[in-house]
Amino acid sequence: MANDYYPFINAPLMCPFTAFEPYIDAKTMMLHHDNHLQAYIDNLNAILADNERLQTMSLEELIINADSLPSDIRDAVRNNAGGVWNHRFFFGNLVNAGLSPPRGQFGDAIAETFGSFEQFQQDFKEAALSVFGSGYAWLVLDDGKLRIVTTANQNTPLENGMCPILGLDVWEHAYYLKHYNDRASYIDDWFNVASWNVANINYQKCLEQET
Ligand code: MN
Repeated sequence: MANDYYPFINAPLMCPFTAFEPYIDAKTMMLHHDNHLQAYIDNLNAILADNERLQTMSLEELIINADSLPSDIRDAVRNNAGGVWNHRFFFGNLVNAGLSPPRGQFGDAIAETFGSFEQFQQDFKEAALSVFGSGYAWLVLDDGKLRIVTTANQNTPLENGMCPILGLDVWEHAYYLKHYNDRASYIDDWFNVASWNVANINYQKCLEQET
């Protein structure tokens, strides 16, 4: 789905909005998917409606090549294509099956890179807390190495040649209704619904891309 083309559509979530209770509330999920993500999709479609050449570029191509786009639409494409990609990735990383830390090759790589899974969680939380204003925290594969990075606004790690494995939306719209201004408790709750299965699939894909 990340490689689809104009006109972009907002596919329904794979599960009901209540699926991540009590960690992420249903109303937040509904607004986040049906209003926030929808707005990025509508904006992106509106920008591309008058640019036939850009309609032949995939979502990822639009993001990766944003710098070479006409200057009057460059920022709008980056913000809205990034908004679509980041939200799809974030939602795709959620699961309602409870926490089970990564195992196997992926689990080993996390332990080797960060010391332990618990240390990884601490480092990731610190990074997510450090995002000033709106943005994301990510676990990425960068030159064969696991790294925790952050991006501002709707920028994506793709622009910097990094391969995303796990992404956390720390815009206030992602948590304000339930967690108010307490981003730390939102991050703690998110760890209960972050899918290590999906992250492991992403990790394997990232490894394949590098070879
Ligand atoms: Mn969001």
